[in-house]
Amino acid sequence: MPRHIEIVEVGPRDGLQNDPAMMSTDVKLEFIERLIEAGVKRMEAASFVPPKLVPAMADSDAVMAGVPRDKGVKYIGLALNERGMRRALDTRCDEVNFVMVASAGFGKRNQNATPEETADLFDHIAVLAHDDGVPVSVTISVAFGDPFDGEVPIERVAMLAKRAAAAGAVEIALGDTIGVADPWDVRARIDAVRAVAPDTRLRLHFHNTRNTAMANIHAAIEAGVDVIDASVGGIGGCPFAPKATGNVATEDVVYMLERGGFETGLDLSKLIAIAKWLEKEGLKHPVHSMLSNAGGFPPKT
Ligand code: MG
Repeated sequence: MPRHIEIVEVGPRDGLQNDPAMMSTDVKLEFIERLIEAGVKRMEAASFVPPKLVPAMADSDAVMAGVPRDKGVKYIGLALNERGMRRALDTRCDEVNFVMVASAGFGKRNQNATPEETADLFDHIAVLAHDDGVPVSVTISVAFGDPFDGEVPIERVAMLAKRAAAAGAVEIALGDTIGVADPWDVRARIDAVRAVAPDTRLRLHFHNTRNTAMANIHAAIEAGVDVIDASVGGIGGCPFAPKATGNVATEDVVYMLERGGFETGLDLSKLIAIAKWLEKEGLKHPVHSMLSNAGGFPPKT
């Protein structure tokens, strides 16, 4: 049996939230349908943040009202505060993802909170999800480095992971929000988190900003991590890393893993077709993935 690696598709949320194209609700739903057709079983579909701050996610309630519910797909909604959590629960998200920040410089600008404040807030709002029986996960953003403060102490990442697990997070993601991680640091931070939250599933979120995402994924897989975030076409940057390319591309990750003998449940050629659709129709601008240019291997006869 090949080892299964779960790829969480973040394109419809993380991929679109800062894209200038401002995809309409109908096109977002078509995007989601195409992803499901390519085999996606778990995806970030919505973000319940103030529309003034993230206009591209203003229609998240409508998106969640329109997603297909009969295909065994789990939809994740992002929440940063109590209001967001209530919206995510009201719109029947299958999972709510809360974001803790590992550094104050980014935290103040992204959600006006310090690392400790985000952990305190999670204590408070995780209860709402627990009461509704909805699983809640935590992403620790800027877990490998902060665009304003620089290096992020590994001890702080471990502290946040410990608090996330204590408050009932079913999964902890380490987010390399600005794409500064290296594979050896990935291993070290995974070990540090496991030491304080041994029973909590780990997920890793990488950006290919400095061309290290695939090496970082390899390090995570070798460390035993079974859940990886990716965004088809590599869409989605970070507003505080203005020149940065986006999330690591789903099709690039699927190619590497399937060549390596892992099983993802995703269809590479359909993912490449979605990347091309994004360029021509969905976003109408180029996307950044190697596989959508090169195609898979071996060639299909
Ligand atoms: Mg991202």
